[in-house]
Amino acid sequence: MNPENVSEKEIRNIYRGLRERYGEAPEPSEMTGTEYLVETILSQNTNDINRDKAYDKLNEKYGSWREVENAEYEELVDTIRIAGLGPTKAERIQEALKIVREHHGENFSGDEAYSIEFLNDLPVEEAKAWLTGIPGIGPKTAAVILCFHFKMPVIPVDTHVYRISRRFGLVPENASRKKTHSILDEIVPDEIKYGFHRLLITHGRETCKAKGHADNENCFERCKYYREVIKGGKNPEKFI
Ligand code: SF4
Repeated sequence: MNPENVSEKEIRNIYRGLRERYGEAPEPSEMTGTEYLVETILSQNTNDINRDKAYDKLNEKYGSWREVENAEYEELVDTIRIAGLGPTKAERIQEALKIVREHHGENFSGDEAYSIEFLNDLPVEEAKAWLTGIPGIGPKTAAVILCFHFKMPVIPVDTHVYRISRRFGLVPENASRKKTHSILDEIVPDEIKYGFHRLLITHGRETCKAKGHADNENCFERCKYYREVIKGGKNPEKFI
């Protein structure tokens, strides 16, 4: 269902506009899928700075994923403590590594035994189901990993995507995040989902911020506030 009746053409126009403003979407980082998975677990309920510090400490302390999996639990908790929720995250990281290793059986050794690159060969829904089988990896986290690392056609709804989708009238004003996800999933063509998502985030960070409104060439006619208040002179207090 597409309650706002947003056409594919309109979505493609927005995507073109985003690329004109910000260039092509950035490519995924050079990290491996497992590095990204572990980093994602560390990032839960903390900021990027503390996540990065914890990840660096993990790398300094252990030389391989096998060492992390077999690490003494209290020591691992202590190593990643700065990211918060140390006991939970240590348990989740070791459990995730165990699941990945057991998935491969005896077929690989070294860090290959901990690789999740095989998800690349699965359909999106199967890859999502596999990831959400790991304790602590919910649908949202799985979508983040599949989008940001694997470049799969999924759209995680973070704070920027959620805000702009409503401001652009892509979803109803009162849509929940879950609803926003299912609508975007339906109306954004698969082959542009990755770029569309990454550039919406850029638009949210650089122009369409949570507080206040930009008044510049990076705003979109698609935005009702821009059309009616900024361009149209309507009293912002009367803006609905
Ligand atoms: S006016 Fe500009 S900053 Fe404000 S919601 Fe519209 S696009 Fe975003």
